[in-house]
Amino acid sequence: MKNPRGLTLFQKARAILTKIVPPKKAVQPQPAVVPTPAPAERPLPLPESPANGERVVFDERSEGHLRSLTPEAERRFRQWLTQVRHLGIPVVIIEGTRTFAEQAAIYAKGRTAPGPKVSWAPPGSSMHNYGVAIDFVVFEGLTPKGGQGKPLWGSPMMEQAGRLAMSMGLRWGGVWSGGKQDKPHIELPHSLSSLKQAMPKGWTPRK
Ligand SMILES: [Zn+2]
Repeated sequence: MKNPRGLTLFQKARAILTKIVPPKKAVQPQPAVVPTPAPAERPLPLPESPANGERVVFDERSEGHLRSLTPEAERRFRQWLTQVRHLGIPVVIIEGTRTFAEQAAIYAKGRTAPGPKVSWAPPGSSMHNYGVAIDFVVFEGLTPKGGQGKPLWGSPMMEQAGRLAMSMGLRWGGVWSGGKQDKPHIELPHSLSSLKQAMPKGWTPRK
């Protein structure tokens, strides 16, 4: 059965259907949905370090404690303090090396001397005795002598400064558990036993 244009009915129907039904599009593969892991810790922005050879001089109080440390500790804590100050955190180092005699006096408090206990470490068992630890606190502001205003022990900037230390390969006491948490404390990642062997009388700060 032919129409005047020479198409069979079937051909005509197919021509119509082809016009109406759009050709199948190739199905685009959907990108696989990768669940974004919740960020556990927001990394701190790391500002530029000072150029090689440039030595930042800090407030007198921090400088005094930095100079009491071993050369390696002094170098690494200077790097840390530079970064912390670049973040605008008014951190001051309030403790550095403690000699065995100084540690003995602190340990005696609340034991053989009056007052509350202030240290759990007898002489020779604190990282401060080997020149590889510091204590710090955030102040309201800074002066050339040290901190200005009140020490802010509970400030979130304490956490920020401590976490920055950890990102630089230092140990921060703020993450210690078992009643040992010590937010102001940072130390080099050395073992106490190897320090005792290397320095049986502890580190003697240079004058
Ligand atoms: Zn400490």
